[in-house]
Amino acid sequence: MSMKCSELHKILRKGNKFNFKSGKNFQNYLKQYKNFPENGIYLMTEKGEIGHVGLRIVRIGINKKNSLVKRLNKHINGSENNSIFREHIRRIFKKEESLITKDDVTEYIKNKISFYVIRDLENKREILERKIIGTISKCGLCMSSNSWKGLESATERIRESGLWNVHYVCGEYQLDKDDMDYIKKNLLK
Ligand SMILES: [Zn+2]
Repeated sequence: MSMKCSELHKILRKGNKFNFKSGKNFQNYLKQYKNFPENGIYLMTEKGEIGHVGLRIVRIGINKKNSLVKRLNKHINGSENNSIFREHIRRIFKKEESLITKDDVTEYIKNKISFYVIRDLENKREILERKIIGTISKCGLCMSSNSWKGLESATERIRESGLWNVHYVCGEYQLDKDDMDYIKKNLLK
């Protein structure tokens, strides 16, 4: 599992790294990339979180039908009601301060999170999402740092997996060679 995870990280690092720094202008920022897909899988890295000699993947997500840009935009410009990722982070900040603003979560994502995108032309993203989460969450080399915010989460699966994911964590699904080829072929560069 660690070898597959290592291979996955190696492949991804050849891809284009997107970020959320543009904030409110995020959708315009993505428009600069020609052929940004309507459907895909996104894999986030986080500043300070290391694995496989580089930044490790900390969250995996997909979109519903033809809405990848909208889905990603919700993570930076949405609310806690339409981005569970934001909600996980908000709950942690909320424990620290009685008053928490939407900006705290937005700043956290702006400053720390980048992501890779795998286009999905063959509708494989649901199964691939499970396999990627299963593979990474069982990897012995992807450990959270001592200062990772997710360690303060009340959600055990986040603390233990080192991922901002709950579903499919430590599941039985694992990436195979065909999946790796698909990822390689469809990674946005
Ligand atoms: Zn790993």
